[in-house]
Amino acid sequence: MTYSVKSGSIKPSSTLALSARANGLRAAGRAVLNFTVGEPDFRTPAHIAQAGIQAIIDGKTRYTPSSGTESLRRAICRKLKDDNGLEYRSDQIVVSNGAKHSLYNIFTAVLNEGDEVLIPAPYWLSYPEMVKLAGGTPAFVCAGPENGFKPTVRQLEAACTPRTKAVIINSPNNPTGCVYSRAELEGVAEFALRRGLLVISDEIYEKLIYDADAPHVSIASLGGDIFKQTVVVNGVSKSYAMTGWRIGYTASSGELAEIMGNIQSHCASNPNSIAQEAALAAIAGPQDCVEEMRAGFERRRDCIYGRLSGIKGIKAARPQGAFYVFADVSEICASGGFADAAAFSERLLDDCGVAVVPCADFGMPGFVRFSFSLSLEEITKGMDLLEEFAKKRG
Ligand code: PLP
Repeated sequence: MTYSVKSGSIKPSSTLALSARANGLRAAGRAVLNFTVGEPDFRTPAHIAQAGIQAIIDGKTRYTPSSGTESLRRAICRKLKDDNGLEYRSDQIVVSNGAKHSLYNIFTAVLNEGDEVLIPAPYWLSYPEMVKLAGGTPAFVCAGPENGFKPTVRQLEAACTPRTKAVIINSPNNPTGCVYSRAELEGVAEFALRRGLLVISDEIYEKLIYDADAPHVSIASLGGDIFKQTVVVNGVSKSYAMTGWRIGYTASSGELAEIMGNIQSHCASNPNSIAQEAALAAIAGPQDCVEEMRAGFERRRDCIYGRLSGIKGIKAARPQGAFYVFADVSEICASGGFADAAAFSERLLDDCGVAVVPCADFGMPGFVRFSFSLSLEEITKGMDLLEEFAKKRG
């Protein structure tokens, strides 16, 4: 059997692989503190879970319209208006099986073979693979710590070619936790409009924001022109601890929404009917659960960032959102004799049972990502172990 050339170019997800390795060690009886996790450790709030159960009991178990139920799409429109100041009609919303699926629909709808997509690096590792699957070419724009891991307009300009079709903005960001300011987004918007690019704005971590001086701003809200040229991606996975339910959505021009709806109708029929009812309860229901989880994450952010900042050889960037700390480990790699961040991470897991993600696949070798989706006790224990480990290698 021969497989497609395209499939051969796709890398397996290294975060899932590492998480699986950590779980494997745990299953073998080792104590593992897993800082690789990309999902909230909270349970789906009870009223949301109950809505899912009720949907089954009420027989809401059949195909729905391919872009999602009208009630869910209307609730999403209300959310986008109330939270983000964005006015969409329900036919501009496409609900999919997770934001990942939403992104895949976008790339499939807009890219022709060889079209380029600007991806600021470091990036969430699925973007380039999805762009490639859709026939496009990722064009990386390296945005290092000197500008808070956000590309300048000059850098974006330098990476732009006649084949560039779109630019991805992910704020709050995975893996760095950085949040783009209004002024930074205005720069990106002006650039995208001048170059005629589609802006793909991944706002999945929108609700997990920790600093009053770094609020979430949707680039689509910065004016009528950029509104038309942006597709907003969001979902319930991270905000409502609903990763397994698989509901994400896009808000875009009606034309793009219709195309994505058509694509989805053939590939997936519709997003899961039961999960749509649960997502409706999440989006239209009481929001105190979101604030509780956010506040919990903020305490963890303060704890882990404070601890990491005191460890010699590791330079952590203070995250303003999401639930990750991005840290430069090149100094400890040099002093400890580790070839790279992957070797450092492997040794840390083997010696101390502390699992972190090395970030070469996120476009920034020399860095690792710590998720803080663990209890404060686990974070403290993990940091104690890391501190000991670093002392021996400093
Ligand atoms: N976008 C980013 C930046 C993410 O980190 C993730 C998940 O890790 C997603 C999108 C996908 O979310 P979902 O679970 O809704 O597919």
